[in-house]
Amino acid sequence: MPAKVSEVLKGSIAEELEIQPGDEILSIDDTQMLDMIDYNFMCKSDFLTIEVKKTDGEIEVIEIEKDFDEDLGIVFESAVFDRVKPCLNKCIFCFVDQQPKGLRETLYVKDDDYRLSYLQGTYITLTNLKEEDKERIKRMHLGPFYVSVHTTNPDLRVKMLRNPNAGKALDNLKWFRKNKIPFHAQIVLCPGYNDGAELERTLSDLSELKNTVLSVAIVPVGITQFRKEGLQQVDKKCAVETLDIASKYKKVCCSDEFFLLAEREIPPTKYYGNFCQLEDGVGALRMLLDDFKSSALPKSIKKHLKMSFAASYAAKYAIEKIAKDLNKIKNLTVTVNPVKSNYWGQDITVAGLITTDDLINTVKDLDTDMVIIPTVMLKPYSEDFLDGKTLTYVKEQTGKDFFVVKDIYSMKEIVDYLWSKA
Ligand code: SF4
Repeated sequence: MPAKVSEVLKGSIAEELEIQPGDEILSIDDTQMLDMIDYNFMCKSDFLTIEVKKTDGEIEVIEIEKDFDEDLGIVFESAVFDRVKPCLNKCIFCFVDQQPKGLRETLYVKDDDYRLSYLQGTYITLTNLKEEDKERIKRMHLGPFYVSVHTTNPDLRVKMLRNPNAGKALDNLKWFRKNKIPFHAQIVLCPGYNDGAELERTLSDLSELKNTVLSVAIVPVGITQFRKEGLQQVDKKCAVETLDIASKYKKVCCSDEFFLLAEREIPPTKYYGNFCQLEDGVGALRMLLDDFKSSALPKSIKKHLKMSFAASYAAKYAIEKIAKDLNKIKNLTVTVNPVKSNYWGQDITVAGLITTDDLINTVKDLDTDMVIIPTVMLKPYSEDFLDGKTLTYVKEQTGKDFFVVKDIYSMKEIVDYLWSKA
């Protein structure tokens, strides 16, 4: 995979040099780059010589004089320019493995690449980390990483990841500690495997690594109707037990689902620290509620408006609280409509996995002027749903107008819209 340019930022050095999307950066200062880590490192200079292969095949050599830290304004197609390191595991709970065919291509990618973990916050298992990778991590002071630990019991980890190296790979955590390389840990909780006493053991072992561990997130295993193995889902009893165990350790946060299942209030902001594992559903509801609490609402809007949130089951808790306040605005009626996931089965409750048929079934008979959906239901920068059908198709099928909220942790776009109608 070459270092292919996907976008050139407006007003940037790259634009001035007429670098175009589709061009390939072959080298910087006669050195080829493996990934964005090399690129970012090499760009920290006052003078650069860049070799560019243009879309017509011509090679140009460009000399650049710039400020030391100044960005060139190039966005690449991929963060790694060689091959993404593939995952070598077959985890008992792997969501990728349990998906049916025909969904969005990116949902079938099984990467386990320390570079993507460093650059983009993806989770790695360390089962494919080589000595040369460790040498580079140490030399370039890379980190923090996001590590799917799941358990610190080597035998159990082999069983859960279905990889004979998975237990030994835990030695890398001690290597991180020795070399002061920080990481965030993730535990996918699978009842009957790594819960209860095994969870205690894992959290205790991680606490021994002191400051090397920046945070620990516990998330429940996701089970769909396509799973063949007999995994159990987290139930109320398991959620209560997990929350109680987690509360004994510092820097450990459970995802929102545990609080919903245990029928406990979503904890206050301070529980989540820096919200460092937000992408994993840890603190998303609290962030949304906090953001809304700080918004000033209009007392009324001019014309009567009916708004309907098509929410995931996970977000329902927060959206219902928000809707209660929005309904105090004169001339506004807000309803919350959780999308029932017939496609995946009831247990899947996240917005990013909602399919068009499930959305259409939820909203088609609503008496509403506008359906609100979060952008995570769509492929980034597109109007495609997970199943390849588009928002235009959903509009045609339902005859409804849709409002796509870009920031899923904020109600600002909705509040601004209401102010524009006040
Ligand atoms: S690490 Fe496990 S869960 Fe992640 S992609 Fe690989 S097999 Fe699936």
